[in-house]
Amino acid sequence: MRRPLIIGNWKMNKTASEAAALIRDLRERVPASPNADVVLAPPFTALESARNALGPSSWISLAAQNLHWETHGAFTGEVSASMLRDLDCRYVIVGHSERRTLFGERDENIQKKVRAALMHGLSPILCVGESLAEREAGRTESVVTAQLNGSLAGLTTQDLATVTIAYEPIWAIGTGRAATTEQAVTVHRSIRLFMETGWDSQTASAIRILYGGSVTPQNIESLLASDAIDGALVGGACLDPDSFATIIGAAQTRRA
Ligand code: PEP
Repeated sequence: MRRPLIIGNWKMNKTASEAAALIRDLRERVPASPNADVVLAPPFTALESARNALGPSSWISLAAQNLHWETHGAFTGEVSASMLRDLDCRYVIVGHSERRTLFGERDENIQKKVRAALMHGLSPILCVGESLAEREAGRTESVVTAQLNGSLAGLTTQDLATVTIAYEPIWAIGTGRAATTEQAVTVHRSIRLFMETGWDSQTASAIRILYGGSVTPQNIESLLASDAIDGALVGGACLDPDSFATIIGAAQTRRA
């Protein structure tokens, strides 16, 4: 059984001092547990204060929301993998649909980001997902497969050991309209099949596939009831410590 993983994507929310307060609040509500991995992804500017608020060897890990593929140089406004490692990030979100749609990210560059993360010991959380029009045209599987292909082609099974995939249908993000467990499971199964065909069954059965898109305390139990769903990438609900604590609690107490 893969260990559940819950990631809170803060997006462009919380100053450095607000981040520290939110983490203190969250930690008061959530007990440490070896049953689930928990990751917070504050904005770049709050990573240092988040690290300090978490303290050394915290059971909660840090992620960045993006990175640049080069190690250093004339890339104004960008942040490299080694800069993130220096702030004790263990994970990095790559290819979030907001980056794809609002900032023009393409699979070609997403692949470079995945490789840069892996090269510097960061675990990439690769986001994939279809738009509503693509779903309605019956293209969900082909869109998701093309994104996976474009972002992961050429990686070794060893590389994939630290990669996580987040299936995030665009129509479900921030809309309050989550995919049903059945809809998510169908896509998760096709992702696992893609991994098995492209690599091998061991890689396919080891990789964690998260669901993201309007996850709440109300729907997390139903999503986690399927063993095809290994956790959640949570946006809006992770900014409310009570809601996020409930979501984490559901993962910690999930029946094996
Ligand atoms: C996200 O931004 O990755 C996300 C899933 O957002 P929300 O939970 O708010 O839909």
